[in-house]
Amino acid sequence: MTEKTANYWHSLEDGRIQCDLCPHNCKLKTGEQGICKARFHEDNRLVAATYGHASGFAIDPIEKKPLYHFFPGRAVLSFGTLGCNLNCQFCQNWHLSHSLPGLIKMQNASPASIVNRMLAEKIPGIAFTYNEPVIFTEFAVDVASLCHEHHLFTVAVTAGYIQGQARKDFFSVMDAANVDLKSFQNKLYSKLCGARLKPVLDTLVYIREHTTTWLEITTLIIPGHNDSRSEIQQIARWITANLGPNTPWHLSAFRSAGKMSHVAATNPRILAELHDEAKDQGLHYVYTGNIFFPDGSATRCPACDTKILDRSRFEIIQNSLSTDGTCPHCGFVISGQW
Ligand code: SF4
Repeated sequence: MTEKTANYWHSLEDGRIQCDLCPHNCKLKTGEQGICKARFHEDNRLVAATYGHASGFAIDPIEKKPLYHFFPGRAVLSFGTLGCNLNCQFCQNWHLSHSLPGLIKMQNASPASIVNRMLAEKIPGIAFTYNEPVIFTEFAVDVASLCHEHHLFTVAVTAGYIQGQARKDFFSVMDAANVDLKSFQNKLYSKLCGARLKPVLDTLVYIREHTTTWLEITTLIIPGHNDSRSEIQQIARWITANLGPNTPWHLSAFRSAGKMSHVAATNPRILAELHDEAKDQGLHYVYTGNIFFPDGSATRCPACDTKILDRSRFEIIQNSLSTDGTCPHCGFVISGQW
């Protein structure tokens, strides 16, 4: 592993180091690693253990991230490293998010080699995904900055558990983000994810108020945990009030996974009801994922209800958006980067 000194930390009087990247603020003795397993204390410095390494690459449609209002139909180079600063019991990528660097074979992946591949294969953008990208902020920022030098776009798929200067640096180089809002209950964050709700809401507001990053949100609907109408109403009202009604929200069906394989998959009928409930609260663009639901993948004009974009299994099957990003029928501006 490359021994890259991390940013975002300070020394404590007792000899430990505090990592300031995320709200866990891990205080580490020499040799100890943080909760994310991607940063550790070595000889009075914090090391970013996964800098310059990738657990895998794939070329995906951007709809798979999911991003529905950001360059529809474009390809992205997806990649990730190892580790996570959350501990979600329902994680669908547990083998990557909770593996130790060194235990899984990783590829060398310098920022230049990644960008050179994108240029050679004419891949227009990159997605930091598979595991939580904020824990490798230094690496992601270097890759994203180099992408921008070559007019390639950048996307983060994140739980948004980041703070302070790291948050500023991270989102300053992200053209789009899909942020996972796992619940509106702090209790669920704490019990099932080992984290807190408030910092995630702070990140969402930060993105909206202080960056130009295009923002979409995803919530995995887990039966018996966050699938009540009242919780969906609360989240929809909060998004409308704090981020605006044009923020796309993806309600994704849970499939038994991780340490919650005993929990049944999301009932399609309930997901459809929650989708309608969210729209009733004033959100213009609500989608369903991981499930077949007619209209759950379609973008309709909020003003005249014309179907403008439709998708099937991450493919665009209809696109009648006008070139200026408006509804071809009534001229209403459809929010997004087209
Ligand atoms: S990024 Fe990792 S080491 Fe740093 S505070 Fe968060 S969990 Fe701890």
